Amino acid sequence: MTSNLPLLPTSVIGSYAWPAWLHTALAAAQRGEYGPDDMLETQNDAVDLALRDQDDAGVDIITDGEMRRVGFFTAEFYGHMTGLIELPPRRKVGVVGHDQREGYEATAPVEAPAGLGLVQEFEYARTRTATPLKVPCPGPFTLAGRIRPGSIYKDRIDVAYALAAIINRELKALVQAGVTFIQLDEPSYAVHSRAGAPEEFVKLFNTAVDGVNAKIGLHLCFGNFVGRPVAKRTYRPLFPYILDVRADQLALEFANREMAELDLWREFASEKELAAGVVDVKNYYVETPADVAERIRRVLEVAPAEKVTLTPDCGFSQTARWASRAKLKALVDGTKIVRAELTGT
Ligand SMILES: [Zn+2]
Repeated sequence: MTSNLPLLPTSVIGSYAWPAWLHTALAAAQRGEYGPDDMLETQNDAVDLALRDQDDAGVDIITDGEMRRVGFFTAEFYGHMTGLIELPPRRKVGVVGHDQREGYEATAPVEAPAGLGLVQEFEYARTRTATPLKVPCPGPFTLAGRIRPGSIYKDRIDVAYALAAIINRELKALVQAGVTFIQLDEPSYAVHSRAGAPEEFVKLFNTAVDGVNAKIGLHLCFGNFVGRPVAKRTYRPLFPYILDVRADQLALEFANREMAELDLWREFASEKELAAGVVDVKNYYVETPADVAERIRRVLEVAPAEKVTLTPDCGFSQTARWASRAKLKALVDGTKIVRAELTGT
């Protein structure tokens, strides 16, 4: 899939901003006003818009915007799993935050008899754009974060290995369906990067992608739910261990931290590609193309252009759509400036 890509391809992390009507449609659906066909049509339309916005901006590798993964109403991935009971959020009022999300507890070994829905997502998106597609999937450690082990599992890592088996099957099904680029999202690695943990994360990741014959990316960030991070904003504890993951590309956020820690990429030499976050999804200041170009030039001080992809820091699901559109355009236009400097085109 990479053969026709330009130098310094642009891409996204995964989720995309919701159109206004999707909020009201989901509220209506929650009140019982939508049947399954209404819901399917709504979600298809939402995917169409996400693809269209990315294509309009001229992004080189896009996703379906994760528009079907819309929070508790569709229960995200957990709705596909058996062996779980839902636990209500511990806090229900006041400022929005991570602690207002529902959790789960394992009451039986967790399984996903019909898969996680990613194949269906891809199959629809593939018919709606000719642009190369990447399929993002939450990683097992992040997904395990909302599942209490109960009496079934020993701890969170134990839950994560059960999920890694489910994810591994899903990823192989994606490859079977024609997917050539898969990205696992593991914001929780940086949150829990205490001593010994990064080595365990590598083992877990490699289990999840074992035998998956596609280009593999790993997205690491500091959390983005309601635009709030949940970790110290440093990748350092993960290095150099994280370079042992069986991934071709690491997708890291930099823009939000004014490009801090880029030097890690120089300090720990790696053959891996770097997908560098050069647009801040948590900031309503819309970068100019010149801002983006400046950030890219800094990335190129630590990584060769042939190994660099440019992305926003994280998904756009927590960013207003008008800002997301403007930021995608700035990403593409800023990249064009630097591409022209490098290639003279
Ligand atoms: Zn992220």
